[in-house]
Amino acid sequence: MLNSMPSYAHSITSRLPQVGTTIFSVMSALAQQHQAVNLSQGFPDFDAPAELLSLLDQHAKAGHNQYAPMTGVPALREAIAAKVNALYGAQYDVEAEVTVTAGATQALFTAVAAMVHPGDEVIVFTPVYDSYGPSIELQGGKVVYAHLTLPDYKPDWDEVARLITPRTRMIMLNTPHNPTGTVWTAEDMQRLIALVRDTDIVLVSDEVYEHMVFDQARHESVMRYPELAERSFVVSSFGKTYHITGWKVAYCLAPRELMAEFRKAHQFIVFTVHAPSQYALADFMKRPGWYEQLKALYQGKRDIFRQALSGSRFELLPCQGTYFQCVKYGAISDEGDRAFVERLTREQGVAAIPVSAFYPQGDDHGVIRFCFAKSAATLEKALERLIKL
Ligand code: PMP
Ligand code: GLN
Repeated sequence: MLNSMPSYAHSITSRLPQVGTTIFSVMSALAQQHQAVNLSQGFPDFDAPAELLSLLDQHAKAGHNQYAPMTGVPALREAIAAKVNALYGAQYDVEAEVTVTAGATQALFTAVAAMVHPGDEVIVFTPVYDSYGPSIELQGGKVVYAHLTLPDYKPDWDEVARLITPRTRMIMLNTPHNPTGTVWTAEDMQRLIALVRDTDIVLVSDEVYEHMVFDQARHESVMRYPELAERSFVVSSFGKTYHITGWKVAYCLAPRELMAEFRKAHQFIVFTVHAPSQYALADFMKRPGWYEQLKALYQGKRDIFRQALSGSRFELLPCQGTYFQCVKYGAISDEGDRAFVERLTREQGVAAIPVSAFYPQGDDHGVIRFCFAKSAATLEKALERLIKL
């Protein structure tokens, strides 16, 4: 800023006084600064499928470069509706109940903006993905925290029952769960059904890791349960599924009355989403076998990662899904998790995320998160360093 400019800092009343820069940006920047292997921010270091990239090129050259329809390109909405029907037996109307969004972040934000009135309470589960709280607070909502606790981070449904009040407008859930890798079970879904029955509570179900569920477990989408689906915004992201986090294309599904409200907000938050990507994804989604391949890919990486660390001083926590592995490092250091990951990045050349960043008060349980969505060579390099500690 020019020295001669007056400062208006004194007149700013922050809407988000407690919020700084997201930990994902902070740690990726630190990794870059120290040329560390970046296992912090969740993104693959390998490229998207070549066929998808050439479809993008093809559609850009075919002139799909103007505004897409506000709700999304019809062929993509059709492909999404067909997918959730095939996988979860869910039926969504292509015209009225499917909307393409600029990433899951925007879909989550929009669902909250559309539904939450000032003073409404929204229950989230800590550790919680960092965008949820600020989205709620920006609408004047009150964030209410339920706790997922170590070591298995399973929901405590009796606690959730105690947290529900007449002001509870929404519950935001996330399975498979970032950062803990916990996957909710059919029993969890039954507990949720019992809790919301006879209430007006709306659900936002963040299912961006839906295809990364390992071993014999099954992804418990709210879409499998009509009693949940009827009150849910379901969010998933192509970023995770096709190794294209930088495209920022995702989607939201909801029954028509809920989706009508969602679209009222969506049209003024982003209006519409990058058109050529939508056409490319619509074509690519027709390809069979992708989801099984993706699961096998990440399950293999999880196994390699865990196998290597099992001989180290890190204590592995369970990982049933996602592309994240959480570990305790108490046998290596008694530092706080933030200090530990910063030193790990600087001195050992491996970056990770301190899980305290997923708690509103920064609760520190001595747990850090590694992202294993990396090439074999990257993982090998990181693991070589980690097992020496
Ligand atoms: N929800 C969760 C649980 C996530 O981990 C992420 C991103 N990794 C998002 C939402 C946001 O996804 P997108 O990049 O599509 O905005
Ligand atoms: N969701 C990714 C993660 O958990 C990061 C997304 C972001 O950087 N905002 O690491």
